[in-house]
Amino acid sequence: MSTFLFDQTVFGPVISRRLGISLGINLLPNDSKLCSFNCIYCECGWNPEKGTVKAVLPSRMEVKRLLRDKLAAMKSEGELPDVITFAGNGEPTMHPDFASIIDDTLLIRNELCPGARIAVLSNSTMLHKSKVVEALKKVDDNILKLDSGIPATNRLLDQPVGKFDLQRVANNIKQFDGQLIIQTMFIRGYFKGSEIDNTTETELTAWIALLQQIRPKMVMIYTIARDTPANDLRKVPEDELETIADRVRKETGLEVQVSG
Ligand code: SF4
Repeated sequence: MSTFLFDQTVFGPVISRRLGISLGINLLPNDSKLCSFNCIYCECGWNPEKGTVKAVLPSRMEVKRLLRDKLAAMKSEGELPDVITFAGNGEPTMHPDFASIIDDTLLIRNELCPGARIAVLSNSTMLHKSKVVEALKKVDDNILKLDSGIPATNRLLDQPVGKFDLQRVANNIKQFDGQLIIQTMFIRGYFKGSEIDNTTETELTAWIALLQQIRPKMVMIYTIARDTPANDLRKVPEDELETIADRVRKETGLEVQVSG
């Protein structure tokens, strides 16, 4: 299947299903993916084989210059973004200067487009680093991935590159005292002989229990929209996502947003 990579450090603006008019920042390489997960549904495809690609990351100064130039151009055209979104070809918090880049972005945003939000889409694997946590506390939308309340399902869906301890990740997420958004991909299908369905009763019970512990300010649920690297995956129909959202609202009182 044809997945795609972002070939620029500052990209868009694009209309995001979840975020509005979004100017993207890709802190990962422009020609390959770099992520601590290797999700079977990742729109960027699989991580390259270890040792086959030298990952070249944009420097802090380069990101600063590109962002300032782009926002200045958008401002002169009267077309400012609703949100500046750190996403792209992998996990943004893996960039060694992530915290400083967030500080730069806050300054540039305040100067050129104070109405825009700053969002980071992260897979929650770098939250053992205090600098990453402190940086994420400064952004408007700290969007953290949590695909299941069951460790084996996380491992199947997200294919972590290193060790993955779900309770440790959940404890790290709790450091934000609710100042975060949980993002969950619901999906069905098969991968390497294993059936996948994180919408079963067992799955939803475990996931909702974890949401109760974390108490995020919002939960975003969605399903696949584009090609995925694993072939045998299926969307969860939108009416089923709505049913899941209603259940979460009823059982937890949390705000839930559905993207079809
Ligand atoms: S965390 Fe995001 S970028 Fe990383 S593999 Fe999963 S979907 Fe792709």
